[in-house]
Amino acid sequence: MRDFTLIFGCMFAGKTTRLIGLYNESQIDINEKLAVKPLIDNRYSAHSIHSHGGLALIAHRIGKAEEIYPLINQNIKEVYIDEIQFMGPMIVDVIGELLSNNIKVVAAGLDKDYQNNDFGPMPILKKLATTLIQVSAKCKVCNQQADYTFRNIESDELILVGHNNIYEPRCLEHWQK
Ligand SMILES: [Zn+2]
Repeated sequence: MRDFTLIFGCMFAGKTTRLIGLYNESQIDINEKLAVKPLIDNRYSAHSIHSHGGLALIAHRIGKAEEIYPLINQNIKEVYIDEIQFMGPMIVDVIGELLSNNIKVVAAGLDKDYQNNDFGPMPILKKLATTLIQVSAKCKVCNQQADYTFRNIESDELILVGHNNIYEPRCLEHWQK
């Protein structure tokens, strides 16, 4: 059965916290689970997935989606992918391949950039997912529900991995300002 859960939302919405939670809730043996994250994410520790809330799990760091294949052995039943929006164009094919081999996939990703444009493969991944979990943050200005990522500095570089001083979650009203 195809089983692909996609957690998505703006920055600081707790996507990684939810991913780690689902990893920990899964009852299968640790050797049957694989966790990966993109090399671009240098936050916190190099070999683990950390949430802003302080949760962590050990993860392989990969440069692009195809690098998941050599990490798969016959024990692997579930694959967890953090920051999936950075995994490159092959990610859709890789997930399709995992699903057709009855491997469950759980992924977390930023669906929109700070200009509210779709982030890379996220729209296709949303269609591919069998379970969608949207998570929200709290607006930095008014504390209401926030689904938008606001950038505080001027830069044309799209991929700036976030810290509190560059990005903040905002509601639509305060994102537009
Ligand atoms: Zn607001």
